[in-house]
Amino acid sequence: PLVLGIESSCDETGVGIVRGTTLLTNTVSSSMDEHVRFGGVIPEIASRAHLDAFVPTLQEALHEAGVALDDIDAIAVTSGPGLAGALMVGVCAAKALSVATGKPLYAINHLVAHVGVGLLDGATGGAVPGGRLPENLGALLVSGGHTEILRIRSITDDVEMLGSTIDDAAGEAYDKVARLLGLGYPGGPAIDKLAKQGNAKAIRFPRGLTQPKYMGTAEEPGPHRYDWSFSGLKTAVARCVEQFEARGEDVPVADIAAAFQEAVVDVITSKAVLACKENGITDLLLGGGVAANSRLRELTGQRCDAAGITLHVPPLALCTDNGAMVAALGSQLIMAGIGPSGVAFAPDSSLPVTTVSV
Ligand code: ATP
Ligand code: MG
Ligand code: FE
Repeated sequence: PLVLGIESSCDETGVGIVRGTTLLTNTVSSSMDEHVRFGGVIPEIASRAHLDAFVPTLQEALHEAGVALDDIDAIAVTSGPGLAGALMVGVCAAKALSVATGKPLYAINHLVAHVGVGLLDGATGGAVPGGRLPENLGALLVSGGHTEILRIRSITDDVEMLGSTIDDAAGEAYDKVARLLGLGYPGGPAIDKLAKQGNAKAIRFPRGLTQPKYMGTAEEPGPHRYDWSFSGLKTAVARCVEQFEARGEDVPVADIAAAFQEAVVDVITSKAVLACKENGITDLLLGGGVAANSRLRELTGQRCDAAGITLHVPPLALCTDNGAMVAALGSQLIMAGIGPSGVAFAPDSSLPVTTVSV
């Protein structure tokens, strides 16, 4: 099927077009620059930016793919989770398109779409051929709003959450720590870059929820064996900066960035690989905006190798928010014979990852 995907859950207006598992185009317009001076995404500004960007982004996508709106078989749209007002713009646009063209509409879970994008041909270096999922697939989703380890028995109707963050998401921690270190927004890329000049071993920051009372054992798992916590880490970084300042010393920003990044990446990868090993997962797909992080990619690769897990990592442009991932999941739903959502659904800002489509 030829599927048009629409994404507007945060600050990216995305329109992607796929045919089956082939990516035709992935057009993204971001309002990131408008949020920089506030140090974070301002929902009202993001919503207005979607309104401005949607039609031009749609037109550009159709042009690039060389298809007319009439050629499209179905429309897919992110219906959650995300910022309510931002989701509303994409959902309203998608409903209007569906009603005007008579094309069926699929309401898609943004988080599952971050995983589904890995099913596009070549998205993971051809490791997932023909859009067929490996049998024992897991997904490590690390983004601005979520940090989750999932078991994917079926991308269209069977997604199970094995573990997740109990407080901040990893991307959120990067953004908060970057602000604390005066590195601006978005913090992820800034810390990633600066960390390369720092010594990660100069300071040791805590790894959340790794104590025995939380971990338990394989036989008797503790309450948070596969869960993460990043709010304590953020506080530890703040204390560390204060201590340098109180002593009147220069704050070793690069070392702190490197040590913070090592703490985040170490605990994410160790728990994810543990969850895979203990749940028979043999293939792991990495997704979400933080999957752009160079150290996360490196350490996940090393630890998966050591554990005999095959790692699939989509290219950067498909890891951050985009419309192609929405179209890719919509296409999977259609190929699985699942019916459309109609136009009566409402966006759900806290849609759980277990609800693949509405
Ligand atoms: P969600 O998908 O949970 O709704 P989101 O869509 O806002 O959240 P994404 O757009 O997938 O999140 O990812 C954005 C996050 O990724 C930001 O927090 C940003 O700092 C982080 N990020 C981007 N590049 C990097 C990097 N190189 N290293 C670390 N973090 C990064
Ligand atoms: Mg974003
Ligand atoms: Fe996202």
